[in-house]
Amino acid sequence: MKQHFIDNRAVPGSSGESIPVLDPSTGQQYDSIARGNATDIDLAVQAARRAYDEGAWGRLTAAERGRLMLKLSVKILDCADELTDIESRDCGKPTKQARADVTAVARYFEYYGGAADKLHGETLPYQNGYTVLTLREPHGVTGHVVPWNYPLQIFGRSVGGALAAGNACVVKPAEDACLSLLRLAELAAEVGFPPGAINIVTGYGHEAGDALTRHPGIDHISFTGSPRIGVLVTQVAAERHVPVTLELGGKSPQIVFGDADLDALVPVAVNAIVQNAGQTCSAGSRLLVERSAYDRVLERLSQAFSALRAGPATMDLDCGPLIRKTQQERVQNFLKAAAQDGIATAAQGKIADGAPAEGYYQAPTLLDNVPVDHRLAQEEVFGPVLAAIPFDDEADAVRIANATEYGLAASVWTRDGARQLRIARKVRSGQVFINNYGAGGGIELPFGGVKASGHGREKGFEALYGFTVLKTISIKHD
Ligand code: NAD
Repeated sequence: MKQHFIDNRAVPGSSGESIPVLDPSTGQQYDSIARGNATDIDLAVQAARRAYDEGAWGRLTAAERGRLMLKLSVKILDCADELTDIESRDCGKPTKQARADVTAVARYFEYYGGAADKLHGETLPYQNGYTVLTLREPHGVTGHVVPWNYPLQIFGRSVGGALAAGNACVVKPAEDACLSLLRLAELAAEVGFPPGAINIVTGYGHEAGDALTRHPGIDHISFTGSPRIGVLVTQVAAERHVPVTLELGGKSPQIVFGDADLDALVPVAVNAIVQNAGQTCSAGSRLLVERSAYDRVLERLSQAFSALRAGPATMDLDCGPLIRKTQQERVQNFLKAAAQDGIATAAQGKIADGAPAEGYYQAPTLLDNVPVDHRLAQEEVFGPVLAAIPFDDEADAVRIANATEYGLAASVWTRDGARQLRIARKVRSGQVFINNYGAGGGIELPFGGVKASGHGREKGFEALYGFTVLKTISIKHD
């Protein structure tokens, strides 16, 4: 059984209880994790508090913190094969996806390691006889609730930013995907991170996650997950006036005009929905197509979808399995609802021969002409299911793009430069891509949502501001 990681040591859970770890490719258990509770969270928060207040972590200069983070980045790349295997099996990710996630987390530590000593306050012009300056101080102890879809990447962007700003961190990974983060924390200790800087408590959200967000020793919460739990976390944090960054779901539109370069569009649009089997917050799950080009675009995408294959992580196909049985059932229920309501399937990929029957597979599916108000066009499916929707003109495209509760990411495909900017400005979304979508993970690009997609920003330098508190100091000297 894997134990918690607190104060640079493996620590058994106080209850002795465990949660099974299943391989999504086979449905079989192959390990277990500690079922953390409020006692374990308290131990981790105390460790982080000591590290921040009086331990070696709190005494490091920004440059020293940055150097440690750069060392960890190199260590991650040195251990890339091992981390890839862990992530691939635990999450059911095709090997190439797991490897991309490992590369990304290394890059986050490189990026934020380099940024640690470039984060500073300012001096402000004020009245004669005064000097006013601002300090960017860490919050102190930050809590990080991580989902199962990209554990390594989300750890990199959230914990990486918080550490660079000088915080000590307590992380609660998702119960379905913890193993890579437990190993990463060990690697951090090996390269010299002081005890208490990074602590990991595994367990269920309603137990360990809830205890973390309620703990009075937590000064900031970074939550990545579903809008429903995001509301709960916000309510809990509001009682203690603790700031929260919320990275929630999406129903991101890919807006395609008749003049779009389809050779460029098709592979990007396909990848935007099949990457990680569609279990991506910024999945391009709605394809909005100008009506005059709709049949032509659908034909091209249908050819591409028909060629897609889902199978075990080790087969390294277009899609791995979904994370768990209930997620598979959820996606199947969406597809049943589509069929009952007369929505046609334009094209579907296949589940590979030899894929274990007990694995949680879903063939990639392209749905034709989905009504704008249908749940397939409104709700996050979190599976490889793309809803195609025709639009009449620019105004109609913007109206449909904005007609969900979400606003995380969007793309616009047209050769008309003025139209690109008009649409980019009118779409309510944290990110808008023009003739591209999310290449390379966008580590340097501020990321986050509006509306039910959340608030606050992670990734890029901008994220560092969210992991600090601004203090203003006014000095009267004349
Ligand atoms: P989830 O909200 O069920 O769980 C996310 C995390 O919250 C898990 O670690 C879970 O254990 C924990 N949790 C559950 N209940 C809790 C509680 N009461 N208090 C504290 N923590 C609790 O989400 P999920 O199903 O694991 O992840 C999928 C969702 O995450 C999707 O909506 C997806 O879009 C979103 N997501 C968003 C981003 C982003 O950056 N915007 C990135 C990845 C995933």
